[in-house]
Amino acid sequence: MKKPRMIEFANDWLTILRWSLLAVAPEEGCALLIGSQNQLKGVSPDSHIKIEMIWPCCNAWGPTILQFVGSSNALNDLWNDQWTKRTRFVIDPREQLHAQKWARERNLEVLGSAHSHPNGEGIPSSTDLNWASSSELMIIIDQFGQIRAWWLERGHTLHPKEVKVLKPRYEDRRNLIAGPNANE
Ligand SMILES: [Zn+2]
Repeated sequence: MKKPRMIEFANDWLTILRWSLLAVAPEEGCALLIGSQNQLKGVSPDSHIKIEMIWPCCNAWGPTILQFVGSSNALNDLWNDQWTKRTRFVIDPREQLHAQKWARERNLEVLGSAHSHPNGEGIPSSTDLNWASSSELMIIIDQFGQIRAWWLERGHTLHPKEVKVLKPRYEDRRNLIAGPNANE
């Protein structure tokens, strides 16, 4: 999969993604992004892809996650007891397998992941970049519900490229969490 030019969401999935990620604030929320396999096959640098469904996940950050990732996983080396769910997220690998199986059976594919930065901007952190294991789509929602999408290229993870998000027509500031510049 190459960097898409833009992404869009089917139906109300953008709203669902936003609220499910922010529901666990001040902890980071996370989800998997599922889209059409056919669109992946035809993807080109000019393409845009459609998120057909969101797979909400529990933030599985905590010492017990190490039991499931195997001793060779990068998580073991990067583990830091100072981090909490307020500053880190991890999706349980077993949940990823479930999502992949579910998607494959419907001719869909897991396209990437989404998470929230309840205390910061919607920009990938250095940890986000270091942990990206392959080229992937990463969506980040900030504390005000603003969404930004990024393409992380394997080998160039220090320079994530932003991907335009095509907002549905009903999207306006009234749908977002009231921020410092909100009217209401
Ligand atoms: Zn992050």
